[in-house]
Amino acid sequence: MKTRNLLVTGGAGFIGANYVLYWLENNPQDKVVVLDALTYAGNRANLASVEQHPNFIFTHGDICDTNLVEKLLKEHQLDTIVHFAAESHVDRSITGPDAFIETNILGTYSLLKAAKKVWIDEPKAEGKSPLAHRFHHVSTDEVYGTLAPNDPAFTEQTAYAPNSPYSASKAASDHLVRAYHHTYGLEVTTSNCSNNYGPYHFPEKLIPLIITNILHNKPLPIYGDGQQIRDWLYVEDHARGIELVLNKGQVGENYNIGGHNEWANIDIVKVVCKLMNEYFSNEGTSLESCTLNLAPAMLKEKFPEATLAAESRSEALITYVTDRAGHDRRYAIDATKTNNELGYKPAESFETGIKKTVEWYLGNEEWWGELLEENK
Ligand code: NAD
Repeated sequence: MKTRNLLVTGGAGFIGANYVLYWLENNPQDKVVVLDALTYAGNRANLASVEQHPNFIFTHGDICDTNLVEKLLKEHQLDTIVHFAAESHVDRSITGPDAFIETNILGTYSLLKAAKKVWIDEPKAEGKSPLAHRFHHVSTDEVYGTLAPNDPAFTEQTAYAPNSPYSASKAASDHLVRAYHHTYGLEVTTSNCSNNYGPYHFPEKLIPLIITNILHNKPLPIYGDGQQIRDWLYVEDHARGIELVLNKGQVGENYNIGGHNEWANIDIVKVVCKLMNEYFSNEGTSLESCTLNLAPAMLKEKFPEATLAAESRSEALITYVTDRAGHDRRYAIDATKTNNELGYKPAESFETGIKKTVEWYLGNEEWWGELLEENK
């Protein structure tokens, strides 16, 4: 495989950081420059294990700063942009859409402008061919809108119908990326992925929220009837999918990435409750594969507030709350194109992925404890 020099925007966030760790593990010869504004969702500690890597560079900055992006592209001779940076929490987009419009739409526009200038316009002005390049845009299944229970899953042909300020801002950015390809010949690919879960997930999102609330014996808030269905993918499988799109995808194409793994929110919460009960229980039977050196007695000592988990009754914390405005009922990804054309297949089953995730949160209290403290 050819060597790449990558700009990874939003590389200190949940998926971006997992992607950078995955990339340098599997492509250690490549240069990876992270550009991240370190908003509340960005955390340099997510990248601690690669900070000393000789090919890793961190830049604290905003994707809306087009001059900075141009400078980075030139200074490090970057040939690939993998664009994760975004405001990503739907609830926050309802209470404060401005930041979503700025980062997700204007920020993407800023990156496209810089990429076009450095990779296409400047060489052209010198009578040269465009530099070899790829702009990969990371998007979401939420741009497709909502599905009824028996509707077929979203394909790349499904018409966009975003329902929240978050998904509308992502849809707008997808359209800009497409337009830069068709109008200016920028070599782009876009992937639309389902809900991710795994390590380094900010504890405002469903799965880490449930785990950390159980550890503090706090209510587990469920919107509406809890029957909203999401398609869940382990975060490293998303990184694997993007790698395939970069290496084998066709320029100008969109690729759905998903795990064919639909769950109602309430059922996800019940699975996490059951696992937590088992980890805290002396009679836990499903822990043979447990990678944690945390026996139930040690967990009880480490998390003394988790009294309901210790009694195998975490479900008693489930509390139904008023549904959020415009809450989409169901998302489901049909990833047939990505599977067939690129040979994509998730490595992790939901059973193994969710265990790894719960174990990671049990073993990394310093990481999420600090974030909860900072965001009180
Ligand atoms: P996140 O909120 O955890 O991380 C976003 C990162 O972007 C943070 O590190 C933040 O500091 C950075 N950032 C925000 N504004 C910036 C700016 N103006 N300039 C530079 N950096 C900025 O998000 P995530 O969950 O990791 O999602 C990453 C991408 O994947 C997003 O584009 C999102 O739309 C997409 N996506 C997410 C999911 C999911 O389940 N989380 C699913 C599909 C697609």
